[in-house]
Amino acid sequence: MKILVSNDDGVYADGLWILARHLSQIAEVTVVAPDREQSAVGTAVTLRKPLRVQKISPLHPGIEAYGVEGTPSDSVILALGKVLPERADLVVSGINQGSNLGEDVLISGTVGAALSGYLRGFPAIAVSTGKWCEPYFSYAAEFVTLLVKRLGAAGIPSNLFLNINMPDLPIQDIKGLKITRLAMKSHVNTVEEGHDGRKAYYMLTRQSVNSQEDKRTDIWAVDQGNISITPLHLFLENRIPARLLENLTLGLLDELKSRHFQ
Ligand code: MN
Repeated sequence: MKILVSNDDGVYADGLWILARHLSQIAEVTVVAPDREQSAVGTAVTLRKPLRVQKISPLHPGIEAYGVEGTPSDSVILALGKVLPERADLVVSGINQGSNLGEDVLISGTVGAALSGYLRGFPAIAVSTGKWCEPYFSYAAEFVTLLVKRLGAAGIPSNLFLNINMPDLPIQDIKGLKITRLAMKSHVNTVEEGHDGRKAYYMLTRQSVNSQEDKRTDIWAVDQGNISITPLHLFLENRIPARLLENLTLGLLDELKSRHFQ
């Protein structure tokens, strides 16, 4: 099995290397990741600017690693299109320093990297942990490695796209494993105003809403001490108000034209 490992915390991040090291026990691993911290850039790609790729000396023997002067999505697109000599069987992104729950998936670079693989027809997994130190990284890496091993044996579905979040608990205290859905209204964004002596500035802050009532959500699962696995897909369009829009826009183009061509 060939696995591309990427992340958004940068190519030297501990979480990435612990994950790569564990996965290399069961697969051929190549690391291609941003050369610097790129958290919360979502699926941003770099256009109209050249991208440099630098082979770096691996932090674990036998794992080829490249740093990309770009975003997580840039890294995955470059890896799958150019850097990897052969087709990857799986893209794994992480382990992120910090959970990616609910609406986080829309801004997360960790999920963004996985999404870039998924959009190109590669099965993809994003992994995040609320507590980013040892031994929590190792538990998460071991868990993902066991899961990937099972996936490999069962045959990995090409449309696989998973968002995995580990709870902030030592392994013996983790209660269970829940297959979840994304929590909606999962975060509160606030704007704080400051002044630097010359000009006002604003700081956006983001806080997760832990008190989820819906027991099917990722936030609830992690908050209750479970590992959360959310299967994701990519249908952003909303079909519900289509009829409403049809009625609303009836004759709208004619109205626009009639203003110009009487
Ligand atoms: Mn990150």
